[in-house]
Amino acid sequence: MDSRKVIKFANLKIEIVQAPGAAHYIIAGDVDENFRQKEIPRLRTPELHLHLKDVGNFNSVGIREWIQLIADLSQHSKLSFHECSVSSIDQINMVPHSLGGGTVESFYAPYYCECGQETVKLINVHDHEQELRRNEAPHFLCEHCGKSLEFDALEETYFQFLTSLPKAG
Ligand SMILES: [Zn+2]
Repeated sequence: MDSRKVIKFANLKIEIVQAPGAAHYIIAGDVDENFRQKEIPRLRTPELHLHLKDVGNFNSVGIREWIQLIADLSQHSKLSFHECSVSSIDQINMVPHSLGGGTVESFYAPYYCECGQETVKLINVHDHEQELRRNEAPHFLCEHCGKSLEFDALEETYFQFLTSLPKAG
């Protein structure tokens, strides 16, 4: 097949890029009843990276399709999830099967500031492993006023998907 392929549904787009050593599935939009997992090619590469930066809402029909796709992909590849959006993390925490045994490498987390600013910050799991293991949100400063940002979710709930972090080294 081509090294790049795009599959579109009503509210979801999946771009598949085949690179040496790994395949990338770049997923954007809502995982809903219009998503048909059967139309997604299953690449068999040792490593498969799923990019969830622009993933929006999941509904109950969509999540069933998602779990089937992820289960199939994980049979032949080591899965890793990158730049997971806040809504995809919420979904993963509700339904851990959403990862199919793969690992989250980086994810977005919600923060707010006293000055009224609301934002999301990209957290690399390996860079912040110590804090995350203690259920502590990594520290960031407000880009507008310079004060410390407050984490805008419950740490125990939001970082739940990390509780099975493999031991470092
Ligand atoms: Zn501020």
